[in-house]
Amino acid sequence: MEENQYDVIIVGTGPAGSTAALYGQRLGLNTVVFGDTPGGITYMIENIMNFPGFLGGVPGTEFGVKLFQQAQTEGALFTMSRLKELNHHENAFTGTDDNGLMYTATCAIIASGRVPKRLPVAHSEMKGINFCSVCDGPLFRGKNATLAVVGSDNAAGQHAMTLSRIADKVFLICRSQTLKMDAVHQQLIAAQDNIEILNGTEVTGYKGLDLVEALNVKTNEDETSEIPVDGVFLAIGWTPNTKMLAMSVDQNSGGYLQTDDKLMTSIPGLFAAGDVRDTDLWQVLTACADGARAVKNVADHIIAIKS
Ligand SMILES: Cc1cc2nc3c(=O)[nH]c(=O)nc-3n(C[C@H](O)[C@H](O)[C@H](O)COP(=O)(O)OP(=O)(O)OC[C@H]3O[C@@H](n4cnc5c(N)ncnc54)[C@H](O)[C@@H]3O)c2cc1C
Repeated sequence: MEENQYDVIIVGTGPAGSTAALYGQRLGLNTVVFGDTPGGITYMIENIMNFPGFLGGVPGTEFGVKLFQQAQTEGALFTMSRLKELNHHENAFTGTDDNGLMYTATCAIIASGRVPKRLPVAHSEMKGINFCSVCDGPLFRGKNATLAVVGSDNAAGQHAMTLSRIADKVFLICRSQTLKMDAVHQQLIAAQDNIEILNGTEVTGYKGLDLVEALNVKTNEDETSEIPVDGVFLAIGWTPNTKMLAMSVDQNSGGYLQTDDKLMTSIPGLFAAGDVRDTDLWQVLTACADGARAVKNVADHIIAIKS
């Protein structure tokens, strides 16, 4: 086993982890970064239209890879391996990657993002299945589209509201008999003529060749039918990537890492940034900002414990 000593271990090569690496190196921290996907999930974004400074947008892959390369140029070590396990002993963090190599650091930043939950049905990765109405909804603008949102909470309500301004018709498909969103969202939705709520309805399959063309649904009364759609937006939840943590860290009920105003978790020296964090906006911009703030606070933490 090889052992290497660093100031900070960063888990994740998405916007949060790459920005943390970029800022960390420039702050003089000896930085090691784990992850095998330059840019994280930005590759899933056809065009990032809402990142300030990019008039007309920037393809997610281009943005993610350039940010990754920028951090590499500053000298951070990117292992290109995934972190299998992160341990905490006597004020130090030890990471073991999937090659069995060990790295030790004074601090660590978890920037490992989250993965969207998909429906447990056949062809669940078909084209036309989306997760972000703010990002991907505009693709349907001017196309007289019929869209479906699957889910029943506030997030589903927000997707339905956003899409109702873009599409001709939006089905809000909710497995339970009642919506789980708050009264304000319910009132907003009720006021939109082009949103139709299908309570007590479960999506049982996707229909289409390459692109989703219709949803197979089943009601609580076991009646089945088919709903033609141009696109689907899933709001059935996300799973934060925290399995590598071999320690108990405070998380909210959804598994997101809870942090203080310095982005430090319940473990001193362990920080969280980006989509894996218990926050209120999961975007590229906020992930980058988190990465910069987290590593600045790592630098301050290291100075504080050494003085
Ligand atoms: C379809 C889609 C469209 C979107 N569109 C937009 C948009 O238009 N505008 C916008 O601002 N945002 C958009 N987003 C959201 C945006 O992509 C995220 O908010 C952003 O990527 C979060 O950055 P992050 O670094 O926190 O996480 P991520 O980008 O998810 O990066 C985390 C990385 O860490 C990796 N990782 C996980 N576990 C480990 C481990 N154990 N070891 C090493 N690496 C690990 C993951 O595999 C991933 O590569 C979109 C998201 C999706 C899914």
